[in-house]
Amino acid sequence: MEGNNLGIFLERVRTGSPPLAKIMSIDISPEPCRGFSDFEIRESTETGSFTLVSPDISVCDDCLAEMTDRNDRRYRYPFINCTNCGPRFSITRSVPYDRPHTTMSVFQMCSDCEAEYRDPGNRRFHAQPNACSRCGPQVSLLAEGEPSCTAEDAVPKTIKLLKEGKIVAVKGLGGFHIACDAANKDAVERLRERKRKNNKPFALMAPCIASIRKFCHISSEEEILLASPRRPIVLLRKREGLSLPEMVSPANRYLAFMLPYTPLHYLLFVRDGMSLPPSAEEEAEFHFDALVMTSGNLSEEPVVIENPEALSKLGAMVDAFLVHDRDIFSRVDDSVVRVGREGPRTIHGKTFEDAGFFFIRRSRGYVPDPIPLVGDGPDVLGCGADVKNTFTLTKGGYAIPGQHIGDMENYETLRFFEESLGNLMSVYRAHPEAVAFDLHPGYLSHQWALRQEMTCCGRPVTKHGIQHHYAHVASVMAEKGITAKVIGVAFDGSGYGDDGTLWGGEFLVADITGFQRAGHIDYVPLPGGEMAIREPWRTALSYLRKAAGKEAYDCARSAGLTDKFGKAAVETILNIAGQKSFSPLSSGAGRVFDAVSALLGVCDRNTFEGEAAIALESLLLDRVREEYPVNIVFSDPFRIDFSITFLSILEDIGKGEDKRVISTKFHNSVISSVTRVVLGVSRMHNVSTVVMSGGVFQNLYLLNGVTEFLRAQDLDVYTNDLVPCNDAGISLGQAYIMRERIKSGSRSE
Ligand code: ZN
Ligand code: ZN
Ligand code: FE
Repeated sequence: MEGNNLGIFLERVRTGSPPLAKIMSIDISPEPCRGFSDFEIRESTETGSFTLVSPDISVCDDCLAEMTDRNDRRYRYPFINCTNCGPRFSITRSVPYDRPHTTMSVFQMCSDCEAEYRDPGNRRFHAQPNACSRCGPQVSLLAEGEPSCTAEDAVPKTIKLLKEGKIVAVKGLGGFHIACDAANKDAVERLRERKRKNNKPFALMAPCIASIRKFCHISSEEEILLASPRRPIVLLRKREGLSLPEMVSPANRYLAFMLPYTPLHYLLFVRDGMSLPPSAEEEAEFHFDALVMTSGNLSEEPVVIENPEALSKLGAMVDAFLVHDRDIFSRVDDSVVRVGREGPRTIHGKTFEDAGFFFIRRSRGYVPDPIPLVGDGPDVLGCGADVKNTFTLTKGGYAIPGQHIGDMENYETLRFFEESLGNLMSVYRAHPEAVAFDLHPGYLSHQWALRQEMTCCGRPVTKHGIQHHYAHVASVMAEKGITAKVIGVAFDGSGYGDDGTLWGGEFLVADITGFQRAGHIDYVPLPGGEMAIREPWRTALSYLRKAAGKEAYDCARSAGLTDKFGKAAVETILNIAGQKSFSPLSSGAGRVFDAVSALLGVCDRNTFEGEAAIALESLLLDRVREEYPVNIVFSDPFRIDFSITFLSILEDIGKGEDKRVISTKFHNSVISSVTRVVLGVSRMHNVSTVVMSGGVFQNLYLLNGVTEFLRAQDLDVYTNDLVPCNDAGISLGQAYIMRERIKSGSRSE
């Protein structure tokens, strides 16, 4: 291409590219004229860098319109797709992304599909998963009494079963879902009974924004996210009044909603003859307002992807299976996001004023998108932590976080970890020269890392343990390209500390070379260790013991704990709290929230991680400015002692104060104590950049409160924008520390 109109050409490259095209950079350099007469796109040549693989993208409007057009050859075909939409990562076996390298390789395109595939003017030109009902994958229904169900019958029969209140396993894009009619109380309760014994909210799917609006408040930012081609689950505030059965999301202000993202999902909602997008009068005509679409797995195991596996593992939970014959290569769970962060987001010095959303889980629709890092760097692997595990690979100028793996507590999860790591390493041709892992000796990820005997360029791969909260802090540094000293506030439930205790309310002064513990929440024994994490009333007693000493029992009685748990149990726990061998020390911020939640009688058992804290957060009021006293010990390191805070809360309980007021006052005291310690550390160490991470900061009131105060004091404050701030972000921090250390030639801590 030569000539005078290069400006127009450049503009078109920038603005006229197809919906899924992603321009990573544009390099312009002048060349002498060669006398070219036309313009063509040549085949890519191997550049030594890596090929990007697209995440899975929801079905596009053009395909939906065709799928609901009676005259289209793909009318009601559940696997319709085009270059602008459809499965990608989940079906890709290797790169380059061509049909033979995907799980579509077993399907031979018919002549019609082939013609579209070869026509540069067609929307399906080089659409690798292109298919139709004549040549592509098919659905089938496996249910008792339905032995001879045709592909055409499978979806209508599934809808009929769901309407009857049956529970159906539905094979999706990155794994199985378990579905039932969300408005059917019996079905929802039966599903909770069969699927899991905890109170975790079920994910929901609704056919359109208007349907979701019946149950939730939706802001414009939330609407944009829900409808984006990445189709995450968005946590939305429940509406008062008309609602779904309580068991969908017990004791929670939020519902977890997503829009359909595969053609098959849409077919479960649309009536025969209805067009998509629906007209206004058609909108009320969907088969369901909402379906429960919870992930198809056994409690903490990975989501099921294969048909035989589904039959054996999910058989006891469901009444039928809606399956298909397109294999899933990479399992990917749904992503979960939440809107509501205040203030601009800063990524690599660029400020974005758009939706302040953040990830709770970064998986389907986002993985394997790379995250840009500063400059070029070596290949490194971060193994993550054991809770909400992810791993992260770095390569060239990027970090590539893998999908949500889950809690590494069984063989199946470890296998999923290895399988995904293998996939991503081969797809991105990554050869890590260093492996970073969590220091916790009991973590499977830790043990796995130590067992590996990898080599890189003939040399053994080096392995480094990285402290948990340091890795949390580094996850933000990675996103923002920071290598210099920061004050890192890492608040979570617990992570293995340098001294073998359970850390989790940490103020670190950190850079790439290492960190110093500049402050922390004062230690409290956790009576019975793990048991106290599951039963926060034990931690509440431990706090009372710390605050009131010999009068702890009386305090427990006045707070109603003896009535609830019995005098003997309270005495035993107080006793155990004094025995070092049964009660490990914890500085965990999450444990403080647990204790307050239990003391108020809001939640005394965590059936899933963070439940007590979420219940406490659900009580927050907008206009309470008061706070409780907190004792901050100005030593090195600083210590935050909540003893007096607990005594003041007891006093309020005694006065019959509203729980919502107590919760808000407590939150305010945490915000002000964090702020005070950060300011103290800032002065002492002369650092003015603050990064905040750790699962406790999923609490928006806390995150926004601390950010606002610190920014008012002219400090630069950063939090996670690209990965979750919970333990799913750990692997990015680990990998970043190793990468930057290798770059600067120092590997030691
Ligand atoms: Zn499409
Ligand atoms: Zn075909
Ligand atoms: Fe953590």
